Amino acid sequence: METFASPLLLLASSGRAAHAGVIHSVIHLIYIFAAVMFILSLHWMSDPKTARRGTFAGVAGMAAAVLGTLVEPEIVRSGYLWIAIAALLAVPFGIKLSMVPLTAVPQRTALSHAFGGLAAGLVGTAEYFIWLHDGAPAAGMSGFKMGAIVFEVLLGFITVTGSLMAAGKLQEIIPTRPITYKNQNAINLLLFVIAIVAGVTLVLRPSWWPVYALFAGLALTFGVLLIIPIGGADMPTVISILNSYAGLSAVAMGFVLDNKLLITAGALDGSSGLILSIIMCKAMNRSFFNVLFGAFGQVQAAAAATTDKSVRSTNPEEVAQMLEMANEVAIIPGYGMAVAQAQRMVRELYDQLTKRGVVVKFAIHPVAGRMPGHMNVLLAEVEIPYDRLIDMETINPEFPQVDVALVVGANDVTNPAARHDKSSPIYGMPILDVDKAKTIIVNKRSMNPGFAGIDNELYYNDKTLMLFGDSKAALGDVVKALSGGGMH
Ligand code: NDP
Repeated sequence: METFASPLLLLASSGRAAHAGVIHSVIHLIYIFAAVMFILSLHWMSDPKTARRGTFAGVAGMAAAVLGTLVEPEIVRSGYLWIAIAALLAVPFGIKLSMVPLTAVPQRTALSHAFGGLAAGLVGTAEYFIWLHDGAPAAGMSGFKMGAIVFEVLLGFITVTGSLMAAGKLQEIIPTRPITYKNQNAINLLLFVIAIVAGVTLVLRPSWWPVYALFAGLALTFGVLLIIPIGGADMPTVISILNSYAGLSAVAMGFVLDNKLLITAGALDGSSGLILSIIMCKAMNRSFFNVLFGAFGQVQAAAAATTDKSVRSTNPEEVAQMLEMANEVAIIPGYGMAVAQAQRMVRELYDQLTKRGVVVKFAIHPVAGRMPGHMNVLLAEVEIPYDRLIDMETINPEFPQVDVALVVGANDVTNPAARHDKSSPIYGMPILDVDKAKTIIVNKRSMNPGFAGIDNELYYNDKTLMLFGDSKAALGDVVKALSGGGMH
């Protein structure tokens, strides 16, 4: 009987092995497809013309990655109950998050990073305690795997609390100004050193779980401490740095779970976040070190103090006349255009002026609005031709030839104080040289400051006229005046 059964068993088990081999190959193919989609997605998203395709590629890559994970034999064996429960809880939340207005996308992005970091931190914690429960220290834990868990949990948990703080600051649930106290950097450094010592101890003595608890707690605390002294104009860069932390923690998670797609996707996420942070640091003339430890924006409240200088105001009819007479007009969109949802009015103005042979260009500052690419997205929505969107480096030398510079809800990105006032919190940040245009029209509702909380000396320039009012309504009146339709 046994002689008979053995070959059959062998055959059956080799059949099972072949089946498992096929499944593994299919999963690998799915993962390769997902990785290629992620790379193409990043590539396509770097150009407005292909950005839409980039989004679809990213969605396709993520769908493939989820599918590949769901058919992993380990997942199939353990069943789908918990996954289904998690998905049921998460999907409505995801749908709600997708509905936030464009102006709140930075906060939404920070929340996504917080969830990514939470997933990484919890997976690392689960791996650790499963190992501990399953008979550590006898079961052994390689130094490499424990090191990867330490890295994953540190970056994952820093990302969770750091991103929640960043979202809170952007939503103004917590004060946006930097919160500083005595010896802040020294205290942070001390905690960081303690965390590193705890991490190294865990690699050497993995079964000392109280050290693990201390380590995880320190990582969570560190995320809060890292963000509270940062305020004002540095928040976009911080979100981007946290993005790269989340990516790096996913890389470590890939090593812990032995999942190559996680390593690839995490590396792409981490490096793209880092590159974006570098671009943004350059756009604001800030160093990484300064962003993280400089307590930028500390003098904002004092700097925002009211001034007794006077400004000259204008009205839509006068603006229409000036625009009509110009050969070249530069429109400088900013956060106010996004708040007012005035992009359609801007498009109508563009149509009216180009119809009359006026050359209209859009001057785009890399951090205008509240997220990188904010202005590009809004102007693309109303189909302003891409070649009309001119970046800061290209348009700045052209400003002296511009007859009318029309600022639509932009403030900080046009403030000449950034060029010369060493006491200004935005000193050194590259700006659009709007003050060099022949005539400047600034549209905003009041003399209130922008994101950095400081007064803008552009408004007191002899060449500047203020068109007070909500951008949508004010530009609507200008368009009406241009088309001869009278005012509201
Ligand atoms: P600012 O925040 O400097 O200024 C926006 C201006 O818009 C305000 O002064 C406000 O004045 C005006 N405004 C608001 N609502 C309306 C409305 N309905 N109609 C007309 N005007 C309106 O914007 P900028 O784009 O110039 O600069 C962006 C700032 O945000 C920079 O400091 C940047 O560092 C920071 N930041 C950038 C991020 C990014 O990634 N792009 C992310 C986070 C911050 P008033 O109230 O008088 O109308």
